[in-house]
Amino acid sequence: MRILVVDDDTFICRLLVRQLQTLGFRQVIACERARVAVEHLEQQPGSINLILCDLQMPEMDGIEFIRHLVRLGYAGALVLVSGEDERILQSAERLARAHRLRVAGALFKPVSSERLQRLLEQETPGVSTQRDAESRSYDADELARGIETGELVNHYQPKVDFASAQCTGVETLVRWRHPQDGLVYPDRFVALAEAAGLIDGLMRTVLRNALRDARQWREQGLELQLAVNVSMDNLQGLDFPDLVEQEALAAGVPLSSLVLEVTESHLMKNRQDALDILTRLRLKRISLSIDDFGTGHSSLAQLRDIPFNELKIDRSFVHGAWRDAALHTILNASLDMARKLGMKTVAEGIEDRADWDHLRQAGCDVAQGWFIAKAMPAEHLPDWLQAWDERRSELTPTAPVIPDR
Ligand code: C2E
Ligand code: MG
Ligand code: MG
Repeated sequence: MRILVVDDDTFICRLLVRQLQTLGFRQVIACERARVAVEHLEQQPGSINLILCDLQMPEMDGIEFIRHLVRLGYAGALVLVSGEDERILQSAERLARAHRLRVAGALFKPVSSERLQRLLEQETPGVSTQRDAESRSYDADELARGIETGELVNHYQPKVDFASAQCTGVETLVRWRHPQDGLVYPDRFVALAEAAGLIDGLMRTVLRNALRDARQWREQGLELQLAVNVSMDNLQGLDFPDLVEQEALAAGVPLSSLVLEVTESHLMKNRQDALDILTRLRLKRISLSIDDFGTGHSSLAQLRDIPFNELKIDRSFVHGAWRDAALHTILNASLDMARKLGMKTVAEGIEDRADWDHLRQAGCDVAQGWFIAKAMPAEHLPDWLQAWDERRSELTPTAPVIPDR
């Protein structure tokens, strides 16, 4: 592994190099000026696997340095090192990730050798100097064909009640079974569907398939809430509630078991119509969930105007919130607000036991995330439910949980 250390402080620079050498890393280059580091990367692209970079530097700061890394297509890992405020360090980390740099972590000064070692251990296998092949994008014709020919398939992710650890429902997540590329995830085609006017066709297919699967589960005695994602662009035709009702009736699935998760990725074009539609859905006993709460346009204005009965807190506020004071505060405020508005709360992105314990303690109602299960094909669900029953007991301690409100 070839490592580059960038820090204007001579002492810190030498100290880091010494620490790295003690840990067995021999190929370490130190630069006290970020400009020199940039030159090195320009002259020998691909020669460095890991960069440790300070944020506060007089001539070129860490953020400017990140900009150069992006320009140069740097494909190795990055560790930010700083003596600054924790939130500044986190923002810098987020920025680097948003630029798709591979951030291996952040370290506080003075850097402890143990933390450094732990971080490097994660990094050592398979260090790459090549950027992953850019995932290809799709065009509207290809997607339209895919929708028509039945290439869209639904996967389902369980939603579990925190108090009883019982699975009470599933969320439908669409995938595109692409003839060449295999399973393609929605972040690569939902925005295209919206832009190309294909989102209604997509939604109909997803809804119909989901209702068919729900019907089969019911026949096996599994009465689950069925959540389906809808885009704001689906809420333009005033007959949308009638369409959903007809589909559900045809499939023999009660409307009260349907949840529509609404994400607002861009501003609503026609607010009145969307309000008309959402209110009528509620009158038909269909539940409405505000998805990705706290991000984009999923905001307070939506809560004020739309009769949502469920609030889904975005995973960026959930995962790891137990060790982040700012996230913890935002999370608790959101849960409190939802409770006072009489809404059910769902935490997305429960990735580990610590997330589970933290959100349960905070009094959140429902959990969703990889700690419980990833999304799966419909036919796997009955087996998963059986296996889950065995895991449940370890997640529901007998002592009652008193949420800290
Ligand atoms: P979403 O509705 O917020 O769904 C949650 C996303 O987070 C899913 O990604 C899910 O697989 C992922 N996820 C679940 N648990 C975890 C976890 O513990 N950690 C992490 N890191 N991720 C987790 P997916 O399936 O890629 O879907 C992405 C988004 O695409 C969805 O976000 C939803 O907004 C949209 N989408 C999915 N299906 C449809 C659809 O049928 N129609 C529309 N309009 N949008 C859809
Ligand atoms: Mg959703
Ligand atoms: Mg979400």
